[in-house]
Amino acid sequence: MTELLAPAGTLEKLKWAVQYGADAVYFGIQSFSLRSHAGNFSLDDVEQAMSYLRQHNKKGYVTLNIYPWSAEYDDLILNARHLEDIGVDAFIISDLGVMWELKQNGIQTPLHISTQANTVSYQTINAYQALGAKRVNLARELSLEKIAEIQSHISKESIETEVFIHGAVCFSYSGRCAISDYLAGRKANRGECTHPCRWNYYLVEEKRPNEYIPVFEDDRGYYLMNPKELALFPFVPALKNMGVHSYKIEGRMKSIHYVASTVAFYRKILDGHAYTENEGMALLNRISNRGYSYGFMKGGITPDDYAIDQRQSKSHARFVGNIIEESIDDLPLINVRNSIHAGETLELMMPSGELTSIILPEILYLKDNTAVETAHHGSFVRLNEHVPAYSIFRRISPS
Ligand code: SF4
Repeated sequence: MTELLAPAGTLEKLKWAVQYGADAVYFGIQSFSLRSHAGNFSLDDVEQAMSYLRQHNKKGYVTLNIYPWSAEYDDLILNARHLEDIGVDAFIISDLGVMWELKQNGIQTPLHISTQANTVSYQTINAYQALGAKRVNLARELSLEKIAEIQSHISKESIETEVFIHGAVCFSYSGRCAISDYLAGRKANRGECTHPCRWNYYLVEEKRPNEYIPVFEDDRGYYLMNPKELALFPFVPALKNMGVHSYKIEGRMKSIHYVASTVAFYRKILDGHAYTENEGMALLNRISNRGYSYGFMKGGITPDDYAIDQRQSKSHARFVGNIIEESIDDLPLINVRNSIHAGETLELMMPSGELTSIILPEILYLKDNTAVETAHHGSFVRLNEHVPAYSIFRRISPS
């Protein structure tokens, strides 16, 4: 039984992930998570999240994958106890000290070893198994061949493996990096990374400090260390055959459009649907991205895996609205995110993953029944046909 594991930066995103078919979600609490700006959850939020997940028969994992200082352990254990009482399904951890202290303090919640632990061998997985881990995330720096070797040497009944199949990657070994410390005074290993590896860099000659010289490629400069994002859908069938249990999507800081689109896409793939490379990339290019790559999974990285000449979104679609749970006279309401126009044709993506097109009515009626030709961000438009809640409307632009 495989698992599609989605990011949930907020309670709202968690619901979108569930509605679009994730089997489990991961999220951080306000401390001890390696995404300090990801809208992390309070303990009350965790209670609400777990209640929602239980209702939908899904799982929720909490990231405790910071590398804590010695003085932070008491607080960490206290938080872990609260989370265990709430009933979270696992803790995602990186640090051996955290693992040890959780066990020493009688914490029973299953432990998943984070990508930040950079696990690249079956020997390390076997060690984590002996120490009591339930799951190990395989480092993004592994090739398919190396994963096959690992999978053939572990006891899959005793320990699960997890692979990141989609999303942003680090220029360095996941999170083992001090670029952000140097350039922004914010520590990647404390969840504060400002992503300077994705910034735009120029060459400046010391006697001409106001002249910014593009180093290469285009008039916006040179994105020296800007890795493309992983999109590993062609490798999923092989990974399933090897017995990889969990397929993880990166992006707790990404939008609900990203969460819904990636979850819908990989749900279909895990359920057996095969996309050609062109079909898959066309669908994934409906969300903003810095270009896609197969990263180390294809055997190694090359200059093509870096987007050195551009940073802007490669998306060919704009998220313009979604159906909310509230309805009027049993007919749905569109929450308008970007202006929509009467009579225009939009793409509709439903939580089942089904994609179709829809022509908006010749006159748009707002929630208060005002007739308009264009409805703007923040307004609600009545729709005169049944479309399920959480469905997404997009305007597709020519590629
Ligand atoms: S600066 Fe880039 S490589 Fe370094 S931790 Fe942040 S995202 Fe990763």
